[in-house]
Amino acid sequence: MTAERVLAGLDPDQRRAVTAPAGPVCILAGAGTGKTRAITHRIAYRSLTGEISGRHVLAVTFTARAAAEMRARLTALGAAGVQARTFHAAALRQVRYFAPRLLEGRGMPELLESKGRLVALAATRAGVRVDRTGARDLAAEIEWAKSSLAEPGEYAVAAAKALREPPIEAAKVAEVFAAYEQLKRRQGVIDFEDMLRAAVWGIEEHPDVAEQIRAQYRHFVVDEYQDVNPLQQRLLDAWLGGREDVTVVGDASQTIYSFTGATSSYLIDFPKQRRDAVVVRLVRDYRSTPQVVGLANAVIRQARGSEARLRLELQGQRPPGAEPELKIFADEPAEATAVARRCRELIASGTPASEIAVLFRTNAQSETYEKALAEIEVPYVVRGAERFFERSEVRQAMVALRSAVRSIPGETPLVDAVVEALAATGWARDQPPPGGAAREQWEALAALVTLAEEYAAAPEVLPLGEAGAVQRDVSLAAFNAELARRAEQQHAPTVAGVTLASLHSAKGLEWDAVFLVGLSDGTLPTTYAKTPEQLEEERRLLYVGVTRARQWLWLSYGQSRSPGGRARRPCRFLPQLERSGGTERAGASSVSRKPDRRRSQVSSCRICGATLLAGADRKLGRCPTCPSDLDEDLFARLTEWRRRAAAAQKVPAYVVFTDATVVALAERRPDTPADLLAIAGIGPRKLGQYGEAVFALVRGADPDDLVAENFGN
Ligand code: ATP
Ligand code: MG
Repeated sequence: MTAERVLAGLDPDQRRAVTAPAGPVCILAGAGTGKTRAITHRIAYRSLTGEISGRHVLAVTFTARAAAEMRARLTALGAAGVQARTFHAAALRQVRYFAPRLLEGRGMPELLESKGRLVALAATRAGVRVDRTGARDLAAEIEWAKSSLAEPGEYAVAAAKALREPPIEAAKVAEVFAAYEQLKRRQGVIDFEDMLRAAVWGIEEHPDVAEQIRAQYRHFVVDEYQDVNPLQQRLLDAWLGGREDVTVVGDASQTIYSFTGATSSYLIDFPKQRRDAVVVRLVRDYRSTPQVVGLANAVIRQARGSEARLRLELQGQRPPGAEPELKIFADEPAEATAVARRCRELIASGTPASEIAVLFRTNAQSETYEKALAEIEVPYVVRGAERFFERSEVRQAMVALRSAVRSIPGETPLVDAVVEALAATGWARDQPPPGGAAREQWEALAALVTLAEEYAAAPEVLPLGEAGAVQRDVSLAAFNAELARRAEQQHAPTVAGVTLASLHSAKGLEWDAVFLVGLSDGTLPTTYAKTPEQLEEERRLLYVGVTRARQWLWLSYGQSRSPGGRARRPCRFLPQLERSGGTERAGASSVSRKPDRRRSQVSSCRICGATLLAGADRKLGRCPTCPSDLDEDLFARLTEWRRRAAAAQKVPAYVVFTDATVVALAERRPDTPADLLAIAGIGPRKLGQYGEAVFALVRGADPDDLVAENFGN
């Protein structure tokens, strides 16, 4: 790839960000506008022109998946040697490397995977009785404090300032926090925040460490910068050491980690803090169809608070696609079954399973969908917080694969060898357990087999410039080396399955088809969201979800959790969603004045029976994807008549009837006032004004024969 080629795939605004000289750059832009694309291209452009060396770049982001995505994009662009990591992974690597020097020979202390156990113990010490959930809430509170750089003694004041609602009295939280810190020290373990602090401390207090790190990393890039927390910012500042070569990109409207201490204020204030910063705003959405973009805009248009001030109206760049579907089901299992079926249809009609995602508010919702998909044999993968190669079953499998190099004859084909080695650990290829953790484990090992299949079939990824020059080695030993390399890179293998993931973990990612499920009030927004700020964050979560879809978007909820259960209300952000439905573009002020009237007009699809929420769908009387029984001839005559009627009244055509209404008329052929009034959106006024003309057209009249006087008011 040449530098010119790298620039060719960019629009003028993106190009400005990519070619900006060394120094601070800030990209403030909406979802799908090419922020991640801009930073990866900036890195590639600068290294291909020789301005910088990829080895000196540190690109950070917040999830392992996003880091993997960034690495993949950089590799495709030919930017070699760039470190793309999460804050945690970057800090861990650093601390491991410098630990012997900083700790005078002692190794790195053990890293606590989760705080729960020690927090429960600390609570007991502080005289607080908690169950497991209580301990988890306290752990989250301690995590918030540590990420916000608050010590136990400062907790109460910091929490009050931040308008936290602690799970127990603030003074008590502080006590538990102090006890937890003490226990940790005594046991010689550290948690994730300690690890970040150690990285900061190593640099701030040790000039030799600082010098070495700063010689290594000279150019910094931070993706999803709206979700940085004060501790991570402190680490970034330590890395920079006053230097200015830093590019940050983010979207304040996608701030969804405030509850953990993240704050978009660093992003918002960046241009003020660094006056010489090049600031670029992007509004062209390259990811999603105009239908999805319209819906996203409608969701975020209602947002309030500081994050909303930078909000930009996205402009869809892709060709039009299907209208988003909005559906209500009787209960969650019914919803999951319908989602699974639609997944199967999409796959059957050519959408790869890996291009489909089912996204939900909480991980606990995953199980219902796992079951529904498994039942009709649609493959899926569950994306959790855990990194693939850190899962215990994967680590064990890798040990087994390494020892199998000696026990399995060398001439055994790779895939067979892998299956055989895994079988020795109790795994059976064609016996996937139905659900839950067991299924996840099975899935993880199946992913290793898929990886072996890919490895055996395709040439390994060779370092740049060496392609074709090396004999391929598809032995088990070579495969093990490849796994080790990937593990080092923390690159989870992509398996061809429908992705099940939480909205939080979907940030920055995209799929052709996205299902946003469980959109009931109390789930999204969660009942835990009480303050206006918390509710705004829930709205932004929905925005993040909507903007993951390239082509198809489905939004649904089950009225009750289980069959016959108590009915719940739809997500309160849905009325805004309604208004964006295709031809009924948002902005119709009458809609915003009477949202409840519209919401109460629930009707169902005359073909499949699903409840229709979107205005345009209700007008049609069916889901946009259900087969249409449109009368083409009537449709053509109605359209022509509408054109004339609008011209006679000097109004735009949609004022007479919207496109959706014309389609509904051509499908339902109303020939009585009652039929006409049954079409959503047609009231007595339209009946009086246009009723006769419509009936005449339905009976076969030619628009030419309908005189213009009919159109007077
Ligand atoms: P998010 O806010 O969700 O992280 P983003 O701003 O980082 O989104 P990208 O993921 O970089 O957006 O880009 C969205 C999609 O649009 C990607 O598939 C990307 O390849 C594509 N894209 C971005 N810019 C362009 C462009 N100039 N021409 C064509 N496609 C583009
Ligand atoms: Mg991005």
